[in-house]
Amino acid sequence: MLDIQKIRADFPILSQTVNGKPLVYFDNGATSQKPQIVIDAIEKYYQEINANIHRGVHTLSQLATDAYEVSRGKVQQHINAKFAHEVLFTSGTTHGINLVTNGFASILKPGDEIIVSSLEHHSNIVPWQMLCEKTGATLRVIPINEDGELILDAFDELLSEKTKVVTLNHISNALGIINPIKYIIEKAHAVGAAVLIDGAQAVPHLKPDVQDLDCDFYAFSGHKMCGPTGTGILYGKEEWLNKLPPYQGGGEMIKEVTFEKTTYADLPHKFEAGTPNIAGGIVLGTAIDYLNNIGFENIQKYENELLEYATKRLLEIEGLRIYGTGKNKASVVSFNIDGIHPYDIGSIIDKLGIAVRTGHHCAQPIMSFFCIPGTIRASFSFYNTKEEIDVMVEAVKKAQTMLS
Ligand SMILES: *Cc1c(COP(=O)(O)O)cnc(C)c1O
Repeated sequence: MLDIQKIRADFPILSQTVNGKPLVYFDNGATSQKPQIVIDAIEKYYQEINANIHRGVHTLSQLATDAYEVSRGKVQQHINAKFAHEVLFTSGTTHGINLVTNGFASILKPGDEIIVSSLEHHSNIVPWQMLCEKTGATLRVIPINEDGELILDAFDELLSEKTKVVTLNHISNALGIINPIKYIIEKAHAVGAAVLIDGAQAVPHLKPDVQDLDCDFYAFSGHKMCGPTGTGILYGKEEWLNKLPPYQGGGEMIKEVTFEKTTYADLPHKFEAGTPNIAGGIVLGTAIDYLNNIGFENIQKYENELLEYATKRLLEIEGLRIYGTGKNKASVVSFNIDGIHPYDIGSIIDKLGIAVRTGHHCAQPIMSFFCIPGTIRASFSFYNTKEEIDVMVEAVKKAQTMLS
């Protein structure tokens, strides 16, 4: 059992008031809050070991390099990558996906196909569309049903020897649906396609095992898992990372530079041009340690309770509809109330100290599918409570009365 009050005390922001009311933070899908241990680690880095990495022979540079590489090792262990050099530091999920789509520009040919799902965040749609424009490849889309679940028969039909890449999220940010990625990866590999998983919404809730999943790429952000903004990871299988050309040219990514020809550094440095977010990369390791200390099994169990409770309480409200009613879900509830724009509810409950996301959640195709402008999304973390859910439900009822 988790001691939630003790956990909440780790997060200084949670004891704030907003608009005169105790903060209820249910926008964890957009970014998570940071525990004091993470905030302290950032300060400690700048106070004690700040130096550029992989360059100097001086002591601080070595300390900073060691800490950065220790963090890479933690991530490797955490996601069970085979090699540390398969773990690339990025600025976030978006950066990781663009690194891969940029690399595929030299591989794909006209007539090739890329399969994405209907549940994607714009950052896992737009880079692939840009890649299609560059290469003449075609984008195909896995449809969803009314519960917000991928239609797997339709996916099977889209697959062919033309399929070169299949990409989708592990968990949908807009609906919270957990996708059957293992099945999809296996099917995609059977036709020889590479698979990129967008794990941005999965890593706050579970520990992905990239070898067990057998995905070729797995991208995620640090800031949604208690880490600093501007941090992220792209896992790539060694053979793929060797095959793809570098994303950015610059310092740190070369072996030798002459004006005739430059040879690239070995992995992971080939993909880590320039001075990275050193403090962020190191502290991402601190955040991962923090989460592992709480334990992902505990986190999942508790967050499932919150999900069930919130679903039940919200459905007490007349005219309320939840989107994403599939069985396999993370702790996200996306909803609307008949005849009321989600933005209006969001604004009123913000006055009551409640932070939810309203809008299309960077997933406009899902909103088009349900013929709605957007939803109200409450996304829960292990530091949230049932009492906070009660506060939200009462606030939503109040807003409904005011607006109807
Ligand atoms: C947040 C999110 C992204 C983008 O992450 P950034 O940190 O903004 O790069 C991509 N995909 C999903 C599913 C997300 O939730």
